[in-house]
Amino acid sequence: FFSHQSKLITMAIKSEDFPASPLPQIAFIGRSNVGKSSLLNTLLGDQMAHVSKTPVTINNYNYGCTKSINFYALWDKIMMVDLPGYGYSKVSKDKASVWGRSISEYLLTSHHCKLNLLFEKTRLKKLFLLVDSRVGLQKNDIEVMKLLDEHRVAFQVILTKIDKATTTGLKRFYNQVKEEIMNNVSCVPNIIQCSSKEMKGIQQIRSVILEVTNF
Ligand code: GDP
Repeated sequence: FFSHQSKLITMAIKSEDFPASPLPQIAFIGRSNVGKSSLLNTLLGDQMAHVSKTPVTINNYNYGCTKSINFYALWDKIMMVDLPGYGYSKVSKDKASVWGRSISEYLLTSHHCKLNLLFEKTRLKKLFLLVDSRVGLQKNDIEVMKLLDEHRVAFQVILTKIDKATTTGLKRFYNQVKEEIMNNVSCVPNIIQCSSKEMKGIQQIRSVILEVTNF
């Protein structure tokens, strides 16, 4: 069902460049290197998400790698949104603030923008927050969780690369996420554990996508 039917619609930094398409959206966010491109490639088929590794230049300003928001149409029915990775140590403060601005603009326009009737209904059906199962939640993950919470986004945590985690490590970080969800933010309580390498948890993620987009 999912493979070979996706195409890149646009790469954008500013809200005026976001597609006006009314398709339901599923977004993905996480720290750099968390395994987001690998998961998106698995869900979209082929090597769709490789473009997120290409430096983006708009109006002669180099935004660096993975700083754009990439929109992919899946089966012409679902918009899969690749949000830029965060927490990469070499990213300057300048670029970090570009990151923050484009994420906030995305959350505002996709979620409850009242300016345009088209956007009145929430297009963002689910946002997956990816957390490396060997690293656990970091300070910036918690900041992002709070930002999502403030914007009332229905988000769900995916623990990635479980094939590389030890049983005790996985349990520890699973409990860490669970505790954060229970105590500090409101999001979907079910935590998905996945490995793009071993195709674990992929079916579960697909089921959630189909469910929230009404397929
Ligand atoms: P991104 O920066 O979040 O897009 O992360 P990538 O998808 O580029 O992955 C970062 C690194 O982790 C790469 O070397 C991948 O091969 C590796 N990786 C991604 N997913 C998995 C996984 O499920 N298992 C393992 N063992 N490695 C993974």
